[in-house]
Amino acid sequence: MPATTPKLADADAPRTPLPVLPANVDAPTATGGPLPAPPHHHGHGSHGPNLDYELVLDCVHCGLCTASCPTYVETGNEADSPRGRIYLMRQVIDGALKLDDDVKQHLDLCLNCRACETACPSGVQYGRLIEPFRAFMAEQEPGRQVQSLNAVQRFLLFKVFPYRWRNRVALAPARLMQWTGLDWLTEKTGLTRLLPRSLRNMKNMLPALKPHYGHLPEVLEPEGPRRARVALFLGCVADSLYPETNYATAKVLQANGCEVWIPRAQGCCGALHYHAAEEEPARGFAAANCQAFGADDADRFKDVDAIITNAAGCGYQLKDYAHMMHGTPHAEAAARLQAKVRDVSEFLVELGPVPPRHEVKVRATYHDACHLRHAQQVYRQPRQLLEMIPGLELIPLPESELCCGAAGSYNLTQPEMAAKLGDRKVANIGATAARAVFTGNVGCLMQVTRHLKAAGQNVWAAHPVDALWASYSGDLPPELA
Ligand code: SF4
Ligand code: SF4
Repeated sequence: MPATTPKLADADAPRTPLPVLPANVDAPTATGGPLPAPPHHHGHGSHGPNLDYELVLDCVHCGLCTASCPTYVETGNEADSPRGRIYLMRQVIDGALKLDDDVKQHLDLCLNCRACETACPSGVQYGRLIEPFRAFMAEQEPGRQVQSLNAVQRFLLFKVFPYRWRNRVALAPARLMQWTGLDWLTEKTGLTRLLPRSLRNMKNMLPALKPHYGHLPEVLEPEGPRRARVALFLGCVADSLYPETNYATAKVLQANGCEVWIPRAQGCCGALHYHAAEEEPARGFAAANCQAFGADDADRFKDVDAIITNAAGCGYQLKDYAHMMHGTPHAEAAARLQAKVRDVSEFLVELGPVPPRHEVKVRATYHDACHLRHAQQVYRQPRQLLEMIPGLELIPLPESELCCGAAGSYNLTQPEMAAKLGDRKVANIGATAARAVFTGNVGCLMQVTRHLKAAGQNVWAAHPVDALWASYSGDLPPELA
């Protein structure tokens, strides 16, 4: 096998039908024969990725996943498809292919959006392959995942974003500039062009910042008879950029008869570090959350019916705590915590939502956040809640399941692909003629807002729970007033 990446289609060439490898037949080697008997890669880290080789073999090369893969849809290159990436990983594990820059580039370009898992009829657990494989790449070349970030981006990503208070302090000047109009002025006069490109990009990603709700009480009493006792997970970046959504979530839960506990000591879910293959700090955050939510104490934890999150990325990470903390002293607590995590839409539908009463007259559409749709299989519930709102007309969004390009820090590490996918998403939103677009993840909200603005589309981008709270409270957001 040549030690270069197999390119079954060229990125720049018009897309041609894929040469489909026969199902249930091993991928060919250079000699045309079957691949050598698989070495067992399970539980060791220094000689190969710490993954279960059987999971690689689940892929039967049918190619049914390729059309749902955003990077393949954009480049048309088989090596940028799920099937191609699984093939590359397998070849590297088998020692038939060198883990060179070309291979790494195709694996780095993956958004880890998991659309391939939804599409795959063979149940391939792609996330269980790419995540340990990326950890392996990081082990081979420590810090490589973050090398594409500059010092300021690294500092913000790992030292500021995971901490709610640091975010609020860091965002204070931006908030002030937005409120005083200075932001607009520097934009118009071209002064922002003096900022380094990376900072300019990050500034462009900022939404219109709303006032923070301040400090919600640690416990909010239910409205009416108590139907459940839930703990609210606030997140880190989301709480600073979209404070109104955490406020709306707490109020909507309260309106649905929930006692809402907001543990003070909670922190970042660990996703920002985990997806950059910085596993140890990520586990530190997870351990702290197990303690903050009381999962360390099985008896005390029985009082909590569910842990609610409104951010798809955090939700997925919290639901993966057992796997993430496997083999650590917090493994049991992590499994207990994970079992109670629910996205707010998932929980409300399970509980039986109280119908909202006030009209929110708007033509709207819904974009599926990958970590909600593909990683958690939550897609009916947000739509169901939106459809309950009087006056709201929900229009299907073309390609709603295709990643918008946000994908955690992807925007910073792979800006070109992120921009292509953002533009594509916004073109699809434009085609619906909607005045509002809802999505259940902070990264998607930022990405969609930024690209809507760049395209000059006056569309309100918000979380479904924002619309729900508007309908419960009767307070229309300024964007719809
Ligand atoms: S990942 Fe699934 S859908 Fe894609 S080629 Fe493999 S078996 Fe087929
Ligand atoms: S996770 Fe997303 S980007 Fe990566 S291979 Fe699967 S569909 Fe493609």
